[in-house]
Amino acid sequence: MASTAVAAYQPKPAKGFDDVIIIGGGLAGLFCALKLAPKAVTVLAAAPIGRGASSAWAQAGIAAAVGPGDTVESHVNDTIIAGDGIVDEQIIRMMASEASDRIFDLLDYGVPFDRDLEGHLAVSREAAHSESRIVRVKGDMAGRAIMEALVAAVRKTPSIRVLEGYVVEDLIAKNGRVGGVVARDRAGSGETLHRLKASHVVMATGGIGHLYEVTTNPTEARGGGIGMAARAGARMADMEFVQFHPTAINVGKDPAPLATEALRGHGATLQNSAGERFMLKLHKDAELAPRDVVARGIFAEVKAGRGAFLDCRTAVHDFAAEFPTVFGYCKDAGIDPSTEMIPVIPAAHYFMGGIWTDSDGRSSLPGFWACGECTSTGAHGANRLASNSLLEAVVFAARIAGKLRSEMTGQAPSDWQDGSVSSNEYLTENDHPNMVTLRQTMSAHLGVLRDGEGMRQALDTILHLARESHSVRFDNVITTAKLITVAALNRLESRGGHFRTDFPAEDADWKRRTILTLDQAHAVIPDLLES
Ligand SMILES: Cc1cc2nc3c(=O)[nH]c(=O)nc-3n(C[C@H](O)[C@H](O)[C@H](O)COP(=O)(O)OP(=O)(O)OC[C@H]3O[C@@H](n4cnc5c(N)ncnc54)[C@H](O)[C@@H]3O)c2cc1C
Repeated sequence: MASTAVAAYQPKPAKGFDDVIIIGGGLAGLFCALKLAPKAVTVLAAAPIGRGASSAWAQAGIAAAVGPGDTVESHVNDTIIAGDGIVDEQIIRMMASEASDRIFDLLDYGVPFDRDLEGHLAVSREAAHSESRIVRVKGDMAGRAIMEALVAAVRKTPSIRVLEGYVVEDLIAKNGRVGGVVARDRAGSGETLHRLKASHVVMATGGIGHLYEVTTNPTEARGGGIGMAARAGARMADMEFVQFHPTAINVGKDPAPLATEALRGHGATLQNSAGERFMLKLHKDAELAPRDVVARGIFAEVKAGRGAFLDCRTAVHDFAAEFPTVFGYCKDAGIDPSTEMIPVIPAAHYFMGGIWTDSDGRSSLPGFWACGECTSTGAHGANRLASNSLLEAVVFAARIAGKLRSEMTGQAPSDWQDGSVSSNEYLTENDHPNMVTLRQTMSAHLGVLRDGEGMRQALDTILHLARESHSVRFDNVITTAKLITVAALNRLESRGGHFRTDFPAEDADWKRRTILTLDQAHAVIPDLLES
């Protein structure tokens, strides 16, 4: 462990501070930067833009009611049903209404969405959508194609300064107002910390998958941005709701590759090692039951030691041609899916909780905004409807840019100069062993199946890891894990992505979103540990 100096940031913008700093180079961050042009903005990204971001891995595409016969109302209804009673109707109506404008923005930035023979946007159908409304690129290449187009557009936009390999470790806040960030330049020596001051900071750091042992998310998605916002005092929402994808390929890869749900739609079945089709006894729709039901069925088999396997041998005739991405993953793992079954396991996939924002992406802290998966806007409720997340990222990024354009005064907040940071806080520490413990704990007790006793054990471990932490970077991560655990212990029912074996039913009294600050969480922890 070594203490490092907090360096003055070089090169500085001419006036010595940034008007807007965006943290994160995924879809939310880059779209916000492009919509702000020609206003000057600095984007900080832990990895080179286009990499280290879930956005580039999206396979299906973006939901938008642009197909023949589809309506905004139908999109809204499907989302409300998927969200299990707690979707904010006003938010999803706004999001669904703005979807087509944002798709046309993406076309303007050069995204080559698929078109039909008449040149109209081609749309495909996905689970739980009552209409064909997923705008896609070359079948399953949407994420990669969108990010390639946006990265190219950003590189051509002189008003956007991109600092790649910069990991933001802290927010600088004074009297509750956010006025900058502390970032580690990993591309350089890794020892240099920069203090960047800004009138407005936009958080766009993505999800939390890597808080779990098995996840489909890139390693950068470990909830750091959410944790630093909570530590600065920002309000969080719906932190108990994590979505698990039922069929990640279980070959010990981290992150785990996905076996798309379309395979089950195609007739693939699920079996355990005894050859039993276990979903038959769990739901009338068997393998086509809702995502969370299938995830719980698979989890129970894996936990019981019987394993779970996707059998595509008779359902898919030409695997390489019909499902090239999954075929490639299987080939890499030495599995021939036309003659062998694919081992599968549920994986942390999407986070419905996060930094609370209003309909313009404004957080509860002045000067601080957020968009994309690190937020909880109310659009997803307890369970995200497939392909609504890329949509949420672009809709809120654009709304933030719209507001910022009118609120940018060119003046730094009057007290920003006083926002000092102590170099002693920013130690470089190998947090890998603690991350391993944390990920095991979260998967064991805050995963697909939860109960009070397990979650209390997890909270105990998390509090211990928090006390042992010597780096702000790990403090951020452990803070997010703590808030998820407290919110999950608090909610005495099962709903959407939150399933408790000790409270297996929905409870009408809990048909509401939850708001939590770090101080509030600390206040209830003693009671939760004793309950
Ligand atoms: C395999 C997979 C398939 C998916 N398929 C779909 C789909 O078809 N449709 C759909 O709508 N959604 C899909 N999703 C979900 C969707 O991709 C994400 O919700 C969305 O891309 C999030 O965008 P974002 O910009 O918020 O985050 P990301 O794209 O994850 O970007 C986050 C950025 O923040 C950076 N970052 C993180 N921490 C820091 C830090 N401390 N300092 C600096 N930078 C930091 C990262 O490096 C990255 O640049 C899928 C997700 C996965 C994993």
